[in-house]
Amino acid sequence: MNPPPSSGPLRDATGPRRYGAREHGISPTGISQDALSVVRSLRSAGFESYLVGGCVRDLLLGRPPKDFDVSTSAHPAEVHALFRRSRIVGRRFQIVHVRSGREIIEVSTFRGHHSPGFDSDPETVESGEGDEEAIEISSQNSAVCANSGMLLRDNVFGTVEEDALRRDFTVNGLYYDPDADIVLDFSTGVADLESRLLRVVGDPAQRFQEDPVRMIRAIRFAAKLDFLIDPFAVAAIARCRQLLEGVAAARMFEEILKLLLAGKGEKTFALLEHHRIFELLFPATADAIRRAPLQRNLVTAALRNSDERIANDKTVTPAFLFAALLWPPMIRRMQMLVGKGEPPVAALHEAAANVVGAQVQLITIPRRFATPMREIWEFQHRLEARRSPQRLLSHPRFRAAYDFLLLREQAGEDLDGAGHWWTQLQAGEEPAAPRSSAEDSAPVRRRRRRKPRGGARSDGG
Ligand code: ATP
Ligand code: MG
Repeated sequence: MNPPPSSGPLRDATGPRRYGAREHGISPTGISQDALSVVRSLRSAGFESYLVGGCVRDLLLGRPPKDFDVSTSAHPAEVHALFRRSRIVGRRFQIVHVRSGREIIEVSTFRGHHSPGFDSDPETVESGEGDEEAIEISSQNSAVCANSGMLLRDNVFGTVEEDALRRDFTVNGLYYDPDADIVLDFSTGVADLESRLLRVVGDPAQRFQEDPVRMIRAIRFAAKLDFLIDPFAVAAIARCRQLLEGVAAARMFEEILKLLLAGKGEKTFALLEHHRIFELLFPATADAIRRAPLQRNLVTAALRNSDERIANDKTVTPAFLFAALLWPPMIRRMQMLVGKGEPPVAALHEAAANVVGAQVQLITIPRRFATPMREIWEFQHRLEARRSPQRLLSHPRFRAAYDFLLLREQAGEDLDGAGHWWTQLQAGEEPAAPRSSAEDSAPVRRRRRRKPRGGARSDGG
C-alpha cells in the first residue's frame, strides 16, 4: 500500500483515522462482489456496515484475502431477516452466515465492551464432527460457556468503535467502507501494518487472559504474514501461555488446523517451539522429540510436505498431519510395550490408544480423522514387511500410508529401502530385494520371524 502522506490521514478530533483511496491503495478488483453486495444491502436497509478483519488487512498488504467478513450494526436476527440464504450460527456469539453465490460471508454484529472473544463456535463442534449447526436465536445477550478458557462475561452488542477495541490485533481491526472507499483505523492498525508489527489491541496480558487462543493466533499471523510479534505481547505470552491448557479441546482442534494447515506449518511449528507453546499443545510429542531428536525431523518434514502441497493447490488432510504429530510418542510407547514382550500389532494398538486418549483431552481429534490416522500407523508395519503388495496397493489408505513411509525415511529412519521398493512397485518395475533379504538370499517376500520376543523394531525412536 502507499504510505500515508506526511500531513497524515484525515482524523476527526475523536474519531478514527480515515485513509482515502490514494493512501490505502486497495484495488477494487480484489474485493469479492458478493461481500460488497452484502455490505450494500445492509446499508440500504439503514444499518452501518463494513468489510472488516483479515480481508481488509490482506487487501492493504496486496494479498488475496482468504475470505470476507462483514461487521454491522444490525443484530443477527435483522441480518437473517434481510438475506434469504442465511443462517444464524453460534451458541454463544451469534453470527450470520450469508450465502452469496459460492461464497459464505460471515456477518457479525458490532461487539460491545463486555462481549467475549471472537471464536466462531466451539461448542457446535464439540461432538467432533465439524459442521456448525444453525440454531434458533434465544436472546441477544447469550451466556458464555464456562469451559472455553475465557472469562465469563455477557455478550453485548456495541458500536463500531467498541467493536474495533474487541478485535485481537491492531492490523485485524481495520474497517473498509466501500462506498466512501475509505479505511477506518481506530487504533494503530495501518501504521503497524507498515512496520509489519503484530500488536495486541489493549493490554496483551489482559486480552490473553480473556481469550488464550489469541496467543496462538499471534503465532499464526506472525508466520502467515511474516510479521514480528510486539515485544509486550511476547512477554505476555511467556506469562500467560499456560492458560491455553484451559481452552476447550474442540476449539483447539479448529485452531490447530488453521495454525498448521494454512501453508506456513513449518515456520509456525518453529515459532510454537520458540514461544514454548508447542509443549502445551502436544506435551507427549514435545517430550518424545526431546528424547529422540530424530523424531523432530518427522514432524518438520510432515509440515514442510503439507506446506508444499498447499502451495501447489493440492489437498492436505488433518489425519496425515496428526499421524505425524503423534507418531513420536506413539512409537516410543509402542517400543516400550514391545520391549516388555507384547507382540508388535497389539503394542501398536495399545500405544495408539494411550497416546490418542491423552491428546484428545487437550485437542479433539474427530473420528473421521482419528480413524485414518490410526490406519496410516497400522499400515507402516505392513509396508515395511512388504507382504501382500497387491492387496495393500488397492487399499484406500495405501497412498497416505505410503507417503508417511517416505516421510519417515526422509526424516532419517532406515527402513531398509521400503519406500523405494513401493515406489518401484507402483511404477510397474520389479522392486529390488530388500537389503536384509539379499544378504540371506531370501526371496523378496521375506517372512519376519516372531522371535526374538521383545526385539523392538528400530523406528528411530
Ligand atoms: P484469516 O485471513 O487467516 O482468516 P482473519 O484475521 O480473517 O485471518 P479470522 O479468524 O477469520 O481471522 O477472524 C476474523 C476477524 O475476527 C479477525 O481479523 C479479528 O478481527 C477477529 N477475531 C477473530 N478471532 C478473534 C479473537 N479470538 N479475539 C479477538 N478478535 C478476533
Ligand atoms: Mg478470515
